[in-house]
Amino acid sequence: NYVALDKIPTWRHHHSREPEEEEENPVSLCDKVSLYKGDITILEVDAIVNAANSSLLGGGGVDGCIHRAAGHYLYEECHSLNGCETGKAKITCGYDLPAKYVIHTVGPIARGNVGQVQREDLASCYKSSLKLVEEYSLRSVAFPCISTGIYGFPNEPAADIALNTVRDWLKENKDKMDRIIFCVFLENDYGIYNRKMSDYFPPD
Ligand code: ADP
Repeated sequence: NYVALDKIPTWRHHHSREPEEEEENPVSLCDKVSLYKGDITILEVDAIVNAANSSLLGGGGVDGCIHRAAGHYLYEECHSLNGCETGKAKITCGYDLPAKYVIHTVGPIARGNVGQVQREDLASCYKSSLKLVEEYSLRSVAFPCISTGIYGFPNEPAADIALNTVRDWLKENKDKMDRIIFCVFLENDYGIYNRKMSDYFPPD
C-alpha cells in the first residue's frame, strides 16, 4: 500500500479525471508540484520531510508517525545527530519507509506569537530542506505542513510561506527536480492549498 510517484497527479492534472495527452508546451512549474492528502509515510519518493523537534528524538504528530513507520534504526541514527536548531535541517536514511531519505527540520514554535522571526524560521525550514535535496541530488520530496500542528503556526500564513519558498527554489532548480509534493493531512489544509496552488503554480 505504498503510493508511487506516478500515481500522484501533478498540479496540472489535479482537477482533470483523465490524464491528458502529454502536452507539447515547455515544462512549467505546475508540472513539478502535487497536492496530496494523506499519510506522508506511505509515499515512495526520494525523501520525505519530517516536522521534528530540536532533540530529533521523536515526538507526536507526523514525527511520531515517521518514527513508527521507519523503525528503530531511524531513532538510532537521529540519536547520533546531536539535535537540530530551529529553521535548520538534517538528513537520515529512510530505513523501513518507502522513502529513501528523511529530512528532519525543526519548525518555529508559534503558539499565539507569529512575528517576523517565526515567519523567517518557517521559510528557512523549507530552504534548508531543499538545500539537502540539492546536495543529495534527490529528485522527489514531500513536505508536511511544518509547524501547523503541535507548534501552532496558523495554517493560512504557513501555506503561503511554504508555497512561496518552494516556488522560488523551483524556479531556479526545476530541471533537477521531478516533483515536490505538498502532503496535507487535514481537510482544512487541503482546502487552503487547493485554493492557493493555482495562484502560485498557474497551469499555463
Ligand atoms: P509541528 O510540531 O511542526 O506543528 P505536527 O506533526 O504536530 O508538527 O503537525 C504538522 C502537520 O503534520 C499537521 O498538519 C498534522 O496534521 C500533520 N500530520 C500528522 N500526521 C501526519 C502524517 N502521518 N502524514 C502527513 N502529515 C501528518
